[in-house]
Amino acid sequence: MYSINETHDINLTSWVASANNGSDFPIQNLPFAIFKRKDSTEPLRGGVAIGDMVVDMAALSDLNLFEGEAKLAVNAAAETSLNRLMDLGSDVNSELRKALSNALKTGSNLQSVIQPILVSQDDIEFSMPCQIGDYTDFYTSIHHATAVGKLFRPDNPLLPNYKWVPIGYHGRSSTIDVSGQMFHRPVGQTKAPDASIPTVGPCKRLDYELEMGAFIGKSTRIGETIPIKNAEDHLFGLCIFNDWSARDIQAWEYQPLGPFLAKNFASTISPWIVTMEALAPFRTAFAHPEDDPAPLPYLESQQNTDNGGLDIDLSCFIETQEMRESGQSMERLADSNFKYSYWTLAQLVTHHASNGCAMRSGDLLGSGTQSGPDHEEAGSLLELSKGGKQPISLSNGETRTFLEDGDSIIMRASCSREGAIAIGFGEVVSTVLPAKTS
Ligand code: MN
Repeated sequence: MYSINETHDINLTSWVASANNGSDFPIQNLPFAIFKRKDSTEPLRGGVAIGDMVVDMAALSDLNLFEGEAKLAVNAAAETSLNRLMDLGSDVNSELRKALSNALKTGSNLQSVIQPILVSQDDIEFSMPCQIGDYTDFYTSIHHATAVGKLFRPDNPLLPNYKWVPIGYHGRSSTIDVSGQMFHRPVGQTKAPDASIPTVGPCKRLDYELEMGAFIGKSTRIGETIPIKNAEDHLFGLCIFNDWSARDIQAWEYQPLGPFLAKNFASTISPWIVTMEALAPFRTAFAHPEDDPAPLPYLESQQNTDNGGLDIDLSCFIETQEMRESGQSMERLADSNFKYSYWTLAQLVTHHASNGCAMRSGDLLGSGTQSGPDHEEAGSLLELSKGGKQPISLSNGETRTFLEDGDSIIMRASCSREGAIAIGFGEVVSTVLPAKTS
């Protein structure tokens, strides 16, 4: 696990002035994305955010300014996807972070050579940050699991395995896209409770899920396990993750093998990956409630108890088509926090590999919907509208139980704490298009 070092120093500022005024991307953050200039035929390459600019990692690699492991890493970051950078592991990536921090800090003698290779974030478009080989979605918010369990199984909301096993399912990576994704309302098979047979048609209960996504860093081989003390060495960083869900399709199809077509029509990630090292100042202690069982020994360590959690503020907003057309700004649906997670990222990684399942750099682990303990902190409309029974009111007079065509969902995440410079993840935005007819 990363410790706090000179790259987190609260007195550190950048010669990129926009990084110093409360930006999501101060010099203490330095998140990675894959980008090119808007509407250009340029090759994709890695970029690092600093204020409202991006350091072009391909151009930086060409400048040949760094040495040793930092040079190895900057060359990997220049490629069209970040998989090889991720696979280099935490020590090598830490050297790159130090080198970037030095190069971008106020007074750096590299300012004059790096200034010309900065690109404005207004002038770029993002691509997928890496090839996601496998995608696994967990279910780590006990508040979400209980609330949803009540809707699907009123007599038996939280199944007995929940407090022992980090519950998850294997999803599909093929429909994950980067922020800006626009997708058609899925069509699928549903059965109304009072109907005798199912019908096929556009989803009527389309929902979002407010999640964090974790990217695997250093890969493991088949048969290799990951002791919990090493788990975070295999994590590269985190993004915001909107795991779109078709609740009516889900309710009919999910038993006995779990989510299938209700979950694999679209999922959207934020473009910037905030590294685990950048998150070091925002760790929290982790414990299960006193009356709950302690995790089994393979899922427990002193480090996990002391620092396993992460304090990340999460927010979710809606912009309906009507709001967009009348120039009204988006409206907040809920705030939550990643610290409410019942399992830590280290526990997810260790559990996932505990049977010898190979983890590959770029694999994505979804946290599951991050609902907080209060109803207002719910990370899905399913919960906010109590299963569609209580419409929520928007300030322009519109109401929602589930999403309508033209709705955009915007999610943001950020970390702040006394004694640290606040950092952000930027945002993930995606829009529902009407179902395809024909
Ligand atoms: Mn999910």
